Amino acid sequence: MKKLLVLLLLATFAQAQTKDEQQIRSLYDAALTEGKAYDWLNHLSNQIGGRLSGSVQAEQAVKYTKEELEKLGLDRVWLQPVMVPKWVRGTPEYAFIETKPGLTNNVPVCALGGSVATPAGGIKAGVVEVKGIEELEQLGRKNIEGKIVFFNRPMEATQINTFKAYGGCVDQRYSGAMEAAKFGAAAVIVRSMNLRLDDLPHTGSMSYGDLPVSERIPAAAISTNGAEFLSTTLKLQPDIKFYLKQNCKQLEDVQSYNVIGEVRGTEEPEKIMVVGGHLDSWDLGDGSHDDGAGCVQSMEVLRLFKETGYKPKKTLRVVLFMNEENGLRGGTEYAAQAAKKKEKHVFALESDAGGFSPRGFNFDAPQGFMEIVESWKPLLEPYLLHQFVSGGGGADIGPLRGEGVILAGLMPDSQRYFDHHHAENDTFEHVNKRELELGAAAMASLVYLYDNYGDEPTAVDNGK
Ligand SMILES: [Zn+2]
Repeated sequence: MKKLLVLLLLATFAQAQTKDEQQIRSLYDAALTEGKAYDWLNHLSNQIGGRLSGSVQAEQAVKYTKEELEKLGLDRVWLQPVMVPKWVRGTPEYAFIETKPGLTNNVPVCALGGSVATPAGGIKAGVVEVKGIEELEQLGRKNIEGKIVFFNRPMEATQINTFKAYGGCVDQRYSGAMEAAKFGAAAVIVRSMNLRLDDLPHTGSMSYGDLPVSERIPAAAISTNGAEFLSTTLKLQPDIKFYLKQNCKQLEDVQSYNVIGEVRGTEEPEKIMVVGGHLDSWDLGDGSHDDGAGCVQSMEVLRLFKETGYKPKKTLRVVLFMNEENGLRGGTEYAAQAAKKKEKHVFALESDAGGFSPRGFNFDAPQGFMEIVESWKPLLEPYLLHQFVSGGGGADIGPLRGEGVILAGLMPDSQRYFDHHHAENDTFEHVNKRELELGAAAMASLVYLYDNYGDEPTAVDNGK
């Protein structure tokens, strides 16, 4: 009797499931049972590979994703032209530590994106280890001139959000060469932005600021194990020499594209929502996590809507941005064109933090909107989406920032991301199919909720 009552209660509860609960459930069901994101990523990663801006692979990715979007039966698919920088690595880099003439130990290095090459014969010089840019000032020119500056501040292990640890270190990589050059350094070596100790160097963007071409010095990343080894060796023997040879080159800008697909809104087509990731990647791996995952998840949002029969009220665009990694030209051009055409963007969601288990979202939004988000929590928590954080967004959608635009970012678990970020092991086998699919469904659910309740002053009815 009691059992019957429970069953009856359950049945009633099931009937009382709101239309929002049902829609979100069906988005997840479709993503997890007949998702396309993983197949798309497989192709991008294994058939095309690393997609550095201006490379043949980047152009192949433009063509492939456009064709796949065309298969989805969207209202419109197009390419938005954008000029992008073309930097090439050339033959692989080479470095060693010389403790005595003829006694050397090789260490894994890679050029930072945008760096100049070494002279053809390489650079051999003494090393000065620092923990940060501010130390350069204290050391002064007399200790730095002619030397290789070794930036060795590690990512802070105690940070739970590894993006914070990254943020606390990345100035060494981005500005290290520019700053060290001012003191006459011969080159810079930067400890890879990686929390674990391994043998893979991690590349990433760097800038010379307005330093004249003649004063630019080569910049390379060294693996974390290499950094530990170099640091220990320096303590034992401060007069060691470091040899670096790299062959990279900055070429002329080339034409590339943002790939865009659109479903026109049924009720408020003038309001535009964007989901996106960046199609370019670094060249060492195949860019599966950064940011192949974000691209295929964004494509999947539109496919899931089609699949479940949901027609967005506002116009929904997927934008696969070109050149996030070493220029942000795609994101900048997209926002410039939107402004020029007086398009009304209301919402943009980016996935660019890896294809790991989604934990929630961050928002660059006014407090009033965060209160609306609060009311969505009960709908999202069953899917283990717990974190709804104020402050965030994404690099590519950043240029869309402005009054009345909500920017959001998917927040996956961040613990393993920097094991792979910008390194040779950012590859397809490190993406878990299910985690990738959960991310796509999470994004689709958020877009659905925004589409229905995002610009209402009062929040969704939770029966409270
Ligand atoms: Zn990225």
